[in-house]
Amino acid sequence: MFKFLKEKIVSWAKKISKDKSQETEPEEKPKKKEKKKKDISVPMKFDVAKQKYEPDLDKLKEIEQDIAEKKPEKEEKEGFFSRLKSKISKVKITEKEFNSYSEDLQMLLLENNVALEVAEKIIAALREMIVGKELLKKEIEQYIRDSLRDILEEILIEPFDITAKITGKITENPSNPYVILFVGINGTGKTTTIAKMADYLKKKNLSCVIAAADTFRAASIEQLKKHGEALGIPVIAHQYGADPASVGFDAISYAKKNHINVVLIDTAGRMHTAKNLMKEIEKISRVCHPDLKLFIGESITGNDSIEQAKTFDSSIGIDGIILTKADVDEKGGAALSVGFVTKKPILFLGTGQSYSALEPFDKRKFTEKLGL
Ligand code: GDP
Repeated sequence: MFKFLKEKIVSWAKKISKDKSQETEPEEKPKKKEKKKKDISVPMKFDVAKQKYEPDLDKLKEIEQDIAEKKPEKEEKEGFFSRLKSKISKVKITEKEFNSYSEDLQMLLLENNVALEVAEKIIAALREMIVGKELLKKEIEQYIRDSLRDILEEILIEPFDITAKITGKITENPSNPYVILFVGINGTGKTTTIAKMADYLKKKNLSCVIAAADTFRAASIEQLKKHGEALGIPVIAHQYGADPASVGFDAISYAKKNHINVVLIDTAGRMHTAKNLMKEIEKISRVCHPDLKLFIGESITGNDSIEQAKTFDSSIGIDGIILTKADVDEKGGAALSVGFVTKKPILFLGTGQSYSALEPFDKRKFTEKLGL
């Protein structure tokens, strides 16, 4: 999941760190002339036979050997200290340097489905955080990663807890079910996600009924009935071509009569008649008064999903987003951008085809998946 974006971001941060760490230190001022080394005083020994002092040649050899052995040790020490110094020495990333790096960053973000306005926001925020900041060479990479993590977590909208919303409403008003309307284009995984959601809520001890209100697409009613049977969840359906709003209405009446907590309404998602589709969904929304309108989009289609989310939002006003097929998305840019563009949170990621493959969205987990 999101492998490409992760690899690119991490290696981008590494590159800046490597470039800056290799920068040479400004030449140090030449040290004051070293004191002239003291001459070695020649050791003398007393020759008893001759009754006079003479140079002690053996001792002199020993001293010379000693000096020769000590020198490399001193040089080694100096090498170690200069290496250490280069690690703890400080550098700054200038505006000009940042601009050249930011071109690469923008490119890698766009290539991985990040929307342009989000890429620009990330770069502007990062510029604020790192240009001119004095950093230890050894901390550059971590500082950039931490800054990126903070920026991305700020860009992602904090999801709300859907279970808490449902229990809040049904505790306050037990005779009315909580109604969730699912909208999105055909093929994005809407039907599967409704089944996953029913399973998720069932595990939280919340009962559900599904309204098969996509009365346009031939297989959708059958598909939902199969999911309903597999999960032990009732599915309210009319015949094909029936009024979708009335299916939703009947499902709500069924829930009230049978004390069911949540009504999950499927809707049509034909793309070629977008205007009629929006009218149809607006009508369902008017009749059924959903407590929550969720947009279902694919993580893998990037900017297409973002455009779809914007269209549904401007037409019926969505409250949250579920991005499907995140498990097969190596880019991750749609997940990063769709919330920022629509100002609506991602609530779940679809992470596979099984019922349990619905992961509550967590900002921290998301940035972790990006290696931050
Ligand atoms: P709908 O037309 O929007 O209702 O889409 P469907 O629910 O029929 O799903 C279309 C295809 O996407 C099916 O093969 C699903 O199994 C698959 N699908 C749905 N959600 C996911 C997901 O999160 N991950 C993967 N890998 N496949 C999914």
